[in-house]
Amino acid sequence: MSSSFSLFRTWNVQHLPSTPAAFVRHFIGHFKGWYLAILLLQIAAVVCSILIPWGLGQITRTVSNGLEADRAFEVLRWPLTLFAVLLVCEVLFTRAAAGCHIHVLPLQRRTVTHVVFAYLQQHSHRFISNEFAGALAHRVSEVTLGVNQTLSILLFDLIPLLVTLSLATALLWTASPLLALFMAGWSVVFIAICYLLARRSHPLAQQYSAARSTSTGKVVDAVSNLANIRLFARHAFEHSYLGTFLDKEVTAAYRSLGYMERIRWFQTSCGVVLKLGLLLLALYLWRSHRIDIAAFVMSTSLSLLIISDVGNLSRRFLEFFEATGNIANGVRSLIRPHEVIDQPGAKALQVKRGDIEFRDVGFSYGAGRPIFEHLNIVIPAGQKVGLVGASGSGKSTLLSVLLRLYDVQQGQVLVDGKDVRDVTQHSLHQQIGLIPQEPGLFHRSIRENIHYGRLDASMDEVAEAIHRAGAREFIDSMEHGYESLVGERGVKLSGGQRQRIAIARVLLKNAPILVMDEATSSLDSITERFIQDKLDEIMEDKTVLVVAHRLSTVAHLDRILVFDNGRVVEDGSHEQLLRQGGHYARLWSRQFSDALDEAVL
Ligand code: ATP
Ligand code: MG
Repeated sequence: MSSSFSLFRTWNVQHLPSTPAAFVRHFIGHFKGWYLAILLLQIAAVVCSILIPWGLGQITRTVSNGLEADRAFEVLRWPLTLFAVLLVCEVLFTRAAAGCHIHVLPLQRRTVTHVVFAYLQQHSHRFISNEFAGALAHRVSEVTLGVNQTLSILLFDLIPLLVTLSLATALLWTASPLLALFMAGWSVVFIAICYLLARRSHPLAQQYSAARSTSTGKVVDAVSNLANIRLFARHAFEHSYLGTFLDKEVTAAYRSLGYMERIRWFQTSCGVVLKLGLLLLALYLWRSHRIDIAAFVMSTSLSLLIISDVGNLSRRFLEFFEATGNIANGVRSLIRPHEVIDQPGAKALQVKRGDIEFRDVGFSYGAGRPIFEHLNIVIPAGQKVGLVGASGSGKSTLLSVLLRLYDVQQGQVLVDGKDVRDVTQHSLHQQIGLIPQEPGLFHRSIRENIHYGRLDASMDEVAEAIHRAGAREFIDSMEHGYESLVGERGVKLSGGQRQRIAIARVLLKNAPILVMDEATSSLDSITERFIQDKLDEIMEDKTVLVVAHRLSTVAHLDRILVFDNGRVVEDGSHEQLLRQGGHYARLWSRQFSDALDEAVL
């Protein structure tokens, strides 16, 4: 319990085993004591249940030895007591094992989810952007379930069954080696065939499950596009479209369920062989005086007990393969090495001045064309810099490499003279406030989303940030005010409202370096002006980078960098760039005349 509790606080998991078996072992390690207790209790329960037929045999022997009816209880006192003790103990051990399981199951689930999620959080921006959020979340829950299922099947089905068969064989050996050999031979053949059949049925079960998730996915997609279906009047089309996937599901179901039914036929037939075989063999041995009546009763009741235990062995194997398959899938897609990692012994960055330098930076996202080559930019502490340029010219990418969302392939990015690769990512992100191009909000209340900037901020500070971000008015007009939920990724807010929440959140964070990527692009110019004034106040003592298409947003800043294809083609203040009469000046006069046209209209 204590180990899992400390895990609760571990958010920075760097290493996890990357093979399914090692992965499960790793998590067993967190609750070793509990699993050992379950195993021992299960074995004890199995021993009791196997000894019950033996006890029955002893009672039968006493009865068949000419027991007088009125002395029955006196003579049978000890065998009966033993029998009763075995029955009670079997129940007690089984329930105790189940009790331990109930205790450890939720803790194990919590631990796996925590640890895998913590590992996932350390994955690079590239990894997260390449995967579907839903698919990653699904993998986390599959892995969690997989670990629990694997351990449950091992502890409650497969290991007890092996113990049962071994003990039954040993007990029968005491009566007659022939009976034991029959039992052992039957067990080996039965388990081997069940295993093979389950292996063969596994792909069929997987196809069935894939067909199920595809048709569920289609329903989800259609439901989320109900408005489109209605507006294009495509109800009938959607019905037949969904129909093809449902038909495939039915075919896959017939194949998988049909195969499972054939396996069940095999299992029940094997059961008949065991019951009849052991009965006939025991009868034969008894008739030829090679075993006594006690051994006869024991072997026939053992066969009944075993049949009830092995009844669903193939199903268990199949579930086992499914669970380990889920773990393997999850481990393969989640437990890949982290791409951007802190150097061993990396120190926390404490920004004192706030200067930024891109020194001879070369960067490309993949094998394609590089975005930056030999890029050099020096931004002194406290400077306010606007980044402008055509769409796709690399402005957002520059911010991403500053935040070390990606590592540069050449050169260095320095903050306060320190390479961003030599400090912890955590501290780097604490020192830089970013308002991104598309601010993502949590599906939580507005207050919670803003508090995210600084968790220990007081309500007054939150209110102040909201005021500065120009968000008070629309928040006050909402039904639940600060406590209103914003919808998934903030869909219940307009683009401009989302931006203002994102601005308030970063204002509350109050980091020494502020980076804005089209932070006010969705706002009307009056609201933008209002926020701009407030932002100017808080920019006072900070180094600031502002990406904007609307040049009026950056015109008043200390310096403007004009980007073109990953290169800085112009660099200077608004007045200097206008005087240069280059790219910026042309852009300015075009936007200025457009604005004038709008005003006239
Ligand atoms: P905009 O003004 O439209 O926001 P930008 O100047 O911010 O444009 P970037 O987002 O930096 O442009 O993109 C620069 C180039 O890098 C573009 O060609 C873009 O297609 C590419 N790019 C951006 N993000 C990725 C990514 N995650 N993976 C691969 N290529 C990317
Ligand atoms: Mg951009």
